[in-house]
Amino acid sequence: MPTYLYDCEECGEFEAEQSISAAALSHCPTCGRDVRRVIAGATGAIVRGGGGSARHCERETPCCGRATRCDKPPCGH
Ligand SMILES: [Zn+2]
Repeated sequence: MPTYLYDCEECGEFEAEQSISAAALSHCPTCGRDVRRVIAGATGAIVRGGGGSARHCERETPCCGRATRCDKPPCGH
């Protein structure tokens, strides 16, 4: 099961184990505040998500965290 990185405005970054098909967390399990998922690109670089609107690109290895469509080959969108 992959581990996703989230960024909570109160608690900072934390990791959560989720299945690939699971919906991204929208609230922190610790404090209940809004969280953003931090998308790790194929290069290993950390790319900030776009506030939950990157759902189109949720795959095993997300290639982008942008709200707009991605034209990079790994994504396929
Ligand atoms: Zn929190």
